[in-house]
Amino acid sequence: RTVTEEKLMVAVRVRPLHSDEGPRIVHVVSDKMLVLEDESDNRRDVLRQRRHNEKHYVYDRVFGEESTQEEVYDAVCASLVSDTLRGFAGAVFAYGATGAGKTHTMTGLMTRALNHLFTSIAESEDPNSFEVKMSYLEIYNENIRDLLNPTAGPLELRDEGGSGAPVVTGLSELRANSAGHVAELLARGDRARTAEPTHANQHSSRGHALLSVIVSKQLGACMQRGRLFLIDLAGSEKAGLRARRLEGAHINRSLLALGNCIMALSGGARYVNYRDSKLTRLLREVLGGRCRTAMVAHVAPGASHRDTTRSTLHYAQRASTI
Ligand code: ADP
Ligand code: MG
Repeated sequence: RTVTEEKLMVAVRVRPLHSDEGPRIVHVVSDKMLVLEDESDNRRDVLRQRRHNEKHYVYDRVFGEESTQEEVYDAVCASLVSDTLRGFAGAVFAYGATGAGKTHTMTGLMTRALNHLFTSIAESEDPNSFEVKMSYLEIYNENIRDLLNPTAGPLELRDEGGSGAPVVTGLSELRANSAGHVAELLARGDRARTAEPTHANQHSSRGHALLSVIVSKQLGACMQRGRLFLIDLAGSEKAGLRARRLEGAHINRSLLALGNCIMALSGGARYVNYRDSKLTRLLREVLGGRCRTAMVAHVAPGASHRDTTRSTLHYAQRASTI
């Protein structure tokens, strides 16, 4: 319904204002438009007395701070889950700075997607013909970790040649039989995510987390295979602390590579360099293939986040030209 035939749907979600982040500078004006009160291009231009620059941004969908998890699920994810049951691939990305609400959104989407999936299978004509498998990994400093088997060492990403998807050697693929079972696996995986204190948020995850759900269905002699990726990207802000420079470089590299792929695709480029980061290598099938994709960019509404908010809104706008 809301995710159309377009390949990439771009949504922005504004989380509630926290008391310590200054006045509100993001205003949602409709379900497709928001306004950012930006600073004047030249703050010393006193003579002209331009204090604010109101910038309008338009996206496929804008969710205000009172938006519910259900609303976001229905608009960006529900139809992708239905597609997965019919053998197609779909992906949802959460983009934004640390503390902007990515994990809040993804947790809501993951729970609802899996409930939807298992309910639909149970109500189908032949529930036993379906098999659901999941994997959950983290990319941190260009290392891949298995969140379902976190004590194992870093895993290798291998290209199997041809145009096939790359394979993460040794990654656990667990068979899931109920939403409750999956919730348990996810909770365990989340506790294993790399979380280190950062300036913005003490408990923020610094790596990209990728949940992959594979739905197979026996159709006579054939196996139909649908796949859903739910991706909680690492914080998009620049790492400020010196000790985090290496990490910040890796995070920025993969987000930059993702942005470059999106740019190249929006320009209709024939050649897109997926090889720039593990994130884009893994998501090659998503970015370049016949896969419906939604990106939910997250922003905080307060003035103290102006710079990261502006850059998130720009990134999302660039993506929405696809
Ligand atoms: P991120 O994953 O982007 O670092 P989080 O999802 O952890 O951000 O959100 C930061 C804080 O804000 C958390 O305490 C979270 O519960 C809260 N929060 C984020 N989005 C919302 C929302 N839409 N409604 C209510 N609380 C939210
Ligand atoms: Mg998070």
